[in-house]
Amino acid sequence: YAKEQGLSCCRFAEYMRTINIVRFELENDIRRGIVRKEFFIEYQPQVNLCTGKMVGLEALVRWNHPVRGLIPPSEFIPLAEESGLIVQLGEWVLRTACRQNKRWQDEGFEPVSVSVNMSVRQFRDPSFTEKVAEVLTETGLDPRYLDLEITESMTMDQKWAVNQLVELKQLGILVSIDDFGTGYSSLHYLRKLPVDRIKIDRSFLEEVVQDSSDAVIVSSIAAMANHLKLKVTAEGVENKEQLEFLKRQNCHDAQGYLFSKPVPALRLEQDFLVKAAG
Ligand code: C2E
Ligand code: CA
Ligand code: CA
Ligand code: CA
Repeated sequence: YAKEQGLSCCRFAEYMRTINIVRFELENDIRRGIVRKEFFIEYQPQVNLCTGKMVGLEALVRWNHPVRGLIPPSEFIPLAEESGLIVQLGEWVLRTACRQNKRWQDEGFEPVSVSVNMSVRQFRDPSFTEKVAEVLTETGLDPRYLDLEITESMTMDQKWAVNQLVELKQLGILVSIDDFGTGYSSLHYLRKLPVDRIKIDRSFLEEVVQDSSDAVIVSSIAAMANHLKLKVTAEGVENKEQLEFLKRQNCHDAQGYLFSKPVPALRLEQDFLVKAAG
């Protein structure tokens, strides 16, 4: 028995070594990828449900790995978070998205906001506000066209989060709570957070038409947001039935495959951006 256990222990150590090597390589790849410009951004439209007009974009990072090809964010974001590289990568996404949005406005397209996903590591950085301010100055983007998406879990430490958000809001930017309803949400806490918008998580939309409890969740979130004077955006809208339901709930904006998948900047420019009048 002891022998067996010794063996499996060895095997386990070996297994862990292998995992760590793969992890280490991927981390190095991410580091190199940033330098070699292997990352790019796709933009997904956010549409106003009353007017049908595109009012915003979400910036979603993509990795074109030289050997592995296109790697989805679900595979590299967790690694980037663990290793801390997300701070560097996240800053690159923020700067690139702001610069792109400013360029579109300069080219005469109707202004829309750009939403950028924040990692907890970025949000926890005491100098985060200064970094965002720096990017705004450097790119010249009007702060009201930048929206930072944070998640509920980042605001667990109430006091700290409120202070950080107050600082950020002083820049004149927008702040949204992403994946709303999946984390540790408490309505009481939401009231105290200086945020502009909540995004209802895609998982609640999936069966909102068939499942009455999902329907209740979505309509309660929308009602509450309206009551608190927050904007509500629904994620993952894939069909007309979901859209009609959301309209009845006074949901403001929606994002999902019904309108468009995330697309590269050029596609967005050709298919979705509108030249401003005059
Ligand atoms: P998320 O912030 O919740 O982003 C929305 C995800 O839903 C995107 O997946 C988008 O492609 C997908 N989606 C949009 N509409 C639909 C739909 O109608 N149906 C379905 N089934 N899916 C839809 P994506 O691009 O794979 O991103 C996954 C996650 O990776 C994001 O979830 C976000 O948490 C993270 N992520 C992406 N870019 C960044 C980034 O720059 N920084 C950080 N920290 N995280 C990022
Ligand atoms: Ca998001
Ligand atoms: Ca989301
Ligand atoms: Ca998310």
